[in-house]
Amino acid sequence: MLVGARQVVTCRGPARARRGREMAEIEVLRDAAVLIDGDRIAWVGPRADVGAQHAGPLREVEVNGVLFPGFIDCHTHGVFGAPRLDDHERRALGVDYRAIAAAGGGILQSVRDVRARPEAELEALTRARLAALLAGGSTTIEVKSGYGLELEAELKQLRVIKTLGEELCATLVPTFLGAHEVPPEYRSKRADYVQLLCEEMIPAVSREGLARSCDVFCEPGVFSVQESRQILTAARRHGLTVKLHADELEGSGGAELAAELGALSADHLAAISDPGIRALAASDTVAVLLPATMIFLGKRSQAPGRRLIDAGAAVALATDFNPGTSPTMSLPLVMTLGVSQLGLRHAEVVTGVTINAAAALGLAADRGQIAAGYVADLVLAAVDDWREVAYWMGTDVVSAVWTAGSACPA
Ligand SMILES: [Zn+2]
Repeated sequence: MLVGARQVVTCRGPARARRGREMAEIEVLRDAAVLIDGDRIAWVGPRADVGAQHAGPLREVEVNGVLFPGFIDCHTHGVFGAPRLDDHERRALGVDYRAIAAAGGGILQSVRDVRARPEAELEALTRARLAALLAGGSTTIEVKSGYGLELEAELKQLRVIKTLGEELCATLVPTFLGAHEVPPEYRSKRADYVQLLCEEMIPAVSREGLARSCDVFCEPGVFSVQESRQILTAARRHGLTVKLHADELEGSGGAELAAELGALSADHLAAISDPGIRALAASDTVAVLLPATMIFLGKRSQAPGRRLIDAGAAVALATDFNPGTSPTMSLPLVMTLGVSQLGLRHAEVVTGVTINAAAALGLAADRGQIAAGYVADLVLAAVDDWREVAYWMGTDVVSAVWTAGSACPA
């Protein structure tokens, strides 16, 4: 039993994403207790009512601060080799991404790195980075492949996710992103790569049970709407749920495609169109926004977070942790950016990293809330007021983390 928290932000309610106005409605209890039974939450409510809920001795853990449901980072590219430091500087000097790619940078630099790097090394690098995400409060972390772009290197990334998922305190949710980019050896025959994805890579990933979802980078110059539809349709046929990198830079109708396919999420959306906003608002697809990416890229635009919520969409926030465009391991920083860059309210950003992020991973049935029956993933922030978690920009306020009912080592 956890007691003594100044506030407990429960996010209690129906086991589904919150949309539109619902996103700002979160329950905050004072002088509350959380009862944990094994790996699940048994009860949450006023401390004075604990006796009526539970007869017999209880192990009490006194906590100091504000309790939240474990944060859920629903979009990361967490398995990679070296950081891309040269890209960072070239971009600062005004070099555009085509010129960066031509100079040997960009996604393909990470692809060469992952292809060449031994699995054990990749695992060690990833272990430290995911541990940092967890320390920032992300108890469930989606991790994509996508720096292999060939079957064996993609499987290598997915095996790293599986191994670390068994070892780390956090829950890792693996996503196959073989359609992150067209690999150099297929540049003159892209249809062959789409065919390889559909007929060999997706079936192999599904057969080995190494991914739950399949994602595609749907963007002009990467994969078209038609190619994305073909790849994701194959993925669904092989039992994977689907997600989309949609309308990140130019926009091509990715959001509409996500809604059409019943995707779990459409991610990025900085260039979403008005019909795209309406399509997401009318669907169960969660709009996953990644404000740190646009900041790191030095862009002045952001996804229309406020308009998406006002239109009635369900919005989640994530780090997009990756070596090229978002090397942040702090979901609380992304919450700050959600308020200051996307125009969201504090309660909306909390919803965006808990229940809505759970829905973006198909996990809303038992994650993202402090409520009876939910997995006992909890975050303690060393603050007085729950809103401070999204206020102290870039400061680590998370002081303790529990997953499946157990305290994670600091
Ligand atoms: Zn991404």
